[in-house]
Amino acid sequence: MVKTTKLIHHHYVPPEGFVAPQFPTYQASTVIFANVRSMRSTEWKNKTGYTYGLHGTPTTFTLEERLACIEGALFCQLVPSGLAAIALVNLSLLKTGDEVLIPSNVYGPNMALVQGELAHYGITHQVYDPMSLDDLASKISKRTRLVWIEAPGSVTMEFPDLISIAKLCSDKGVISALDNTWGAGLAFNAFQLEKGASEASSSAGVDLTIQALTKYASGGGDVLMGCVCTRKHELDLKIKLTHMRLGLGVGADDAQTVLRSLPTMELRYKAQDATARILAKALVNNPFIAQVLHPAVEGSPGHDHWLALTSNYPISSPGLAASIFSVIFKSELSQAQVDRFCDSLKYFKIGYSWGGPMSLVVPYDLSSIRPIPSKHTPLASGHLVRFCIGLEDSGDLLADIHQGLALAFN
Ligand SMILES: *Cc1c(COP(=O)(O)O)cnc(C)c1O
Repeated sequence: MVKTTKLIHHHYVPPEGFVAPQFPTYQASTVIFANVRSMRSTEWKNKTGYTYGLHGTPTTFTLEERLACIEGALFCQLVPSGLAAIALVNLSLLKTGDEVLIPSNVYGPNMALVQGELAHYGITHQVYDPMSLDDLASKISKRTRLVWIEAPGSVTMEFPDLISIAKLCSDKGVISALDNTWGAGLAFNAFQLEKGASEASSSAGVDLTIQALTKYASGGGDVLMGCVCTRKHELDLKIKLTHMRLGLGVGADDAQTVLRSLPTMELRYKAQDATARILAKALVNNPFIAQVLHPAVEGSPGHDHWLALTSNYPISSPGLAASIFSVIFKSELSQAQVDRFCDSLKYFKIGYSWGGPMSLVVPYDLSSIRPIPSKHTPLASGHLVRFCIGLEDSGDLLADIHQGLALAFN
């Protein structure tokens, strides 16, 4: 045997029994079968075997099981980003002639997908007011197949009556899908929303969740990944088959990075939550600010819904919230002043995403992100700025905001 062949087919096998705290990274496109019979009979869909890297490795199966545990689900499927998770749900469940309902404060790229590719495939959509159960109920028809929910909505942070929305969908026989990036499986259990509800009670939760693991699960601002979770076997099978047909595998090193971050997720979430609340509450009566949008801050749209949902969540500490909030600067201030405020911050960097160690700030154009305002929870008019709170010291962050305010508005 020449050396090249020898290197590829080397006889050495390390001893078994290696144990270390961190689960190993299994790298594979090709998976080797013991023989042809094993190749023909191995099944990946129920995670009893391995057939090809795209269909799962010990590393991705392990991450999926741990995420299902955090989320209160039975099944989990990894995908390359949070947006890919949204797309996978849409493409798995919708066909020509179906209608999908999305809240007016939906994550922007989901709206773009619904208006773009889904519309091209003959799938229609309607936008509902997440703060009005009647509005949602009036839009559910025979053609409605899927209802998207966010708790709270992106950027404007209105917290809907999630329990009633999930019940309504269940009563009407339409599939409910929650973008649970904000709750992260820590603030509430999306599959068991009511206190004391039995595991089997289908009216007590949503049918599917997605998460952008890019945010808290990764925790580093350095990995893109998403997942789709459910408790229903038939939905999981649909998701898995579409996942296979679209080829939405994730990189082994990325899966490993998320596995490594998961044990600290709850501690990070709580620490970042505490800092975010200190900052949000400190800005409530600020003379330049018309409104603070943070579900845990009294007076924020849907605060009571957040309180009712999270305060008795038995698994985790009561009343958790993600470390992200927005403020609306008064309309008499100019956009140039608000931009100057963002530019003058030292610790808040300008950039998208959240859940990482570094605090971030982004100004948004309220009229373009919320073209259909809610009648039920009107927002103040003005200039919206979103803060994502990292792991820095709250005193340093607050001092930074105050120096920015003084510089931009005085
Ligand atoms: C970031 C985000 C996503 C998308 O996640 P990516 O991994 O960036 O694609 C989806 N939903 C919400 C609510 C998000 O904040």
